[in-house]
Amino acid sequence: MVQLSTGDMLRAAVRARTPVGIAAKAVMDAGGLVSDVIVEKLIDERLMALTPANGIIFDGYPRTVTQIDALDALLETHDRYLNHVVELAVNEEALVERVTGRLSCTTCGAGYHNRFKPPVRSGHCDRCGSSALERRSDDTAEAVRARLAEYRAKTMPILPLYEARGLLKRIDGMADADEVAAAIADILDRFDS
Ligand code: AMP
Repeated sequence: MVQLSTGDMLRAAVRARTPVGIAAKAVMDAGGLVSDVIVEKLIDERLMALTPANGIIFDGYPRTVTQIDALDALLETHDRYLNHVVELAVNEEALVERVTGRLSCTTCGAGYHNRFKPPVRSGHCDRCGSSALERRSDDTAEAVRARLAEYRAKTMPILPLYEARGLLKRIDGMADADEVAAAIADILDRFDS
């Protein structure tokens, strides 16, 4: 399956200093949501580039009720449909600790955490040896709290809508990483259910 992360697409646009990236950077650093129109365009471009055989995992999208409507229309245009919507439920204080401590290797993409998964050699990636371990500029406690407030106000209202369609699967995100991964894999195995 192909993972389409709107956050990754927006960070790539910020790095490339495209007009979208320039417009999005300040909003992202403050923990706000980027405009629905920008996000819809990014997803549409990616959908056009995929072959019908590719299954898709949308990551961090849709995040607003407007984005649900846009996604419904895009899926119809591209002759696709949703199998599952997965909610990872995590206590907010635990989330702040997880997010503010995370690091990733900009060379190979491996993920680390100051406390829960530090690299064996401090400052170096275990997988590729690079010393390019970076923290996201929006992973400060202040921005994470703003992101959570946006989540409560704008994203949580989408859950009952997907629940009413029988698509919502809730996973306990407080469990160990392996258990959470297994629970997600179990849902994806039931691909057509
Ligand atoms: P993420 O990588 O999913 O944590 O997203 C990082 C940031 O990108 C978010 O805090 C938003 O500013 C922006 N963003 C990502 N996905 C969306 C989306 N679907 N709608 C609006 N803004 C988004």
